[in-house]
Amino acid sequence: MSDPYRWISKSLSTLHQANWYRQVQAIEGKCGPVVAIDGQSMVNLASNDYLGLAGDQRLVEAAIAATKTYGTGATGSRLLSGHRALHSELEAAIAHLKNTEDAIVFSSGYLANIGTISALVNSRDLILTDEYNHSSLKNGASLSGAKVVTYSHCNLDDLANKLAEHRTSYRRCLLLSDGVFGMDGDVCPLPEILHLAEQFDAMVMIDEAHSAGVLGKTGAGCAEHFGYYHQPIVQMGTLSKAFASLGGYVAGSRELIDFLRNRAPSWIYTTGLSPADTAAALSAIAVLKQEPQRLTQLHQNTHYLKQQLDQLLLDLADTPDNTQSQSLKRLPSDSAIVCLQVKDAATVLRLSEQLKRQGVFISAVRPPTVPISRLRMSVMATHTTSHLDQCITALSQTLGSDVGVQTLEFRRCSKS
Ligand SMILES: *Cc1c(COP(=O)(O)O)cnc(C)c1O
Repeated sequence: MSDPYRWISKSLSTLHQANWYRQVQAIEGKCGPVVAIDGQSMVNLASNDYLGLAGDQRLVEAAIAATKTYGTGATGSRLLSGHRALHSELEAAIAHLKNTEDAIVFSSGYLANIGTISALVNSRDLILTDEYNHSSLKNGASLSGAKVVTYSHCNLDDLANKLAEHRTSYRRCLLLSDGVFGMDGDVCPLPEILHLAEQFDAMVMIDEAHSAGVLGKTGAGCAEHFGYYHQPIVQMGTLSKAFASLGGYVAGSRELIDFLRNRAPSWIYTTGLSPADTAAALSAIAVLKQEPQRLTQLHQNTHYLKQQLDQLLLDLADTPDNTQSQSLKRLPSDSAIVCLQVKDAATVLRLSEQLKRQGVFISAVRPPTVPISRLRMSVMATHTTSHLDQCITALSQTLGSDVGVQTLEFRRCSKS
C-alpha cells in the first residue's frame, strides 16, 4: 500500500543527522532568574523575560482579577464580540509609552507582523528586508505578495544599492528591520535606515520585540534609544518578552492604526487577546513606569556579564593548547542579548548540556535559525551578581575543560 506520509520519517532522520532536531523541555513552576528543570534548580539565561516580570505577583493578581471580571476567553474577534474596555486601556498605555498617537494590539507578535506587512504592501510594491530579520517579518513579507529583496545584515551600502536598483519599478516601498536582532543582540542602524527611507520615499517598519522594555530612557525601545519621538515609523512590538504576557502590537499615527483595524487580516479574523493576557501586559507597562530602576539594573547586569565573558575569553585564549577557544567569539551586542558563537551545532548542544549539569540554563541556537551556532544568553533585571558569576564559572569550567579546570580557575583568581 502506498504511504503518502513516508517522507516525514526520512525528513526527521535528516534533522537528527545534522544535529538540527529540536524538542521541548518543561520549566517547572514560575519563570524567574532561577528556574527548575527536571527537579534541578538553574540560573536562567534562556528566557526573554528581560524585566523579570513573568513571575511578578502584581501581574499574576491583575490576570486573576481580569479573569474574574471578564471570564477566560474574549469569545470573538475584536470587531464582533471580542472587544473589552481593557483592550482599549492597553492600547492607550502602549501608545503613551511609545509616544505615538495610537496603538493596536494583536493576539501575538507574529500575527502583528504578518497582518501589518500584508496590509501595507501588495504585489505592486517593494520590500527590503535585513537577512537576519525574524521569521515573522520574512513570512509577512512573502505573504504580502510584494517583491522581496533581502539586504545583507545591517549593510547600508547594500541597502542603498538595492533601493537604487529596484525602487522606481514599484509603487510603495517598505523597509523592514528588527530593532534589536533577537539571535545576535545588535541594534539596527535606524538613523541611516530612516535617512535612506526619506531619500527613496519608503515606509519603515521596525520590530521592537527585543528592544521595547529594554532600550531607551523609559524603555520605549529602539526609536527612543535613537531619540526619535515623532518620526513616522511603524513600530511593531510584542507583549510576550519584556512585558511578560502574550500578544503583539503596532504603535504609530492615528491614521495608520485606524487603517490596520480595517485592513489587517490577522487582526480582523482572529479572536481578541484574552482578558488575563491583556491585564498582565497592562500591569507590566505600569510596573515599568513605576520602577524605572529595573531598566538601570538590566543595563548594569548586561554590562557586567559582557565584561566577565570578555575576560573569560581572554583567559581562554591565553591558555596553551586550547583548541576550543579558537572558534569562540562573543558577538557584538547593544541589548540584553549576549551571544557566544561556537563552531558547530554538535558543539553548542554539548556545551548547553554540560552547562545544565552545572546548574546554568543557556539556549543552544542552531541553524537554520542562525547561520552559525551559538550559546544565547538573555539577561534579566532580576539576576543578581551571584547568578551572573555562577554563569561565568560554569562557562569557564565547560569551555576550559580541554585544558583542565584547575589551570583556568587559577588564572582567573590570580588576576583579581
Ligand atoms: C518573538 C518575536 C516575534 C514574535 O512575537 P510573539 O509575540 O512571540 O509571537 C516577532 N519578532 C521578533 C523579532 C521576535 O523576537
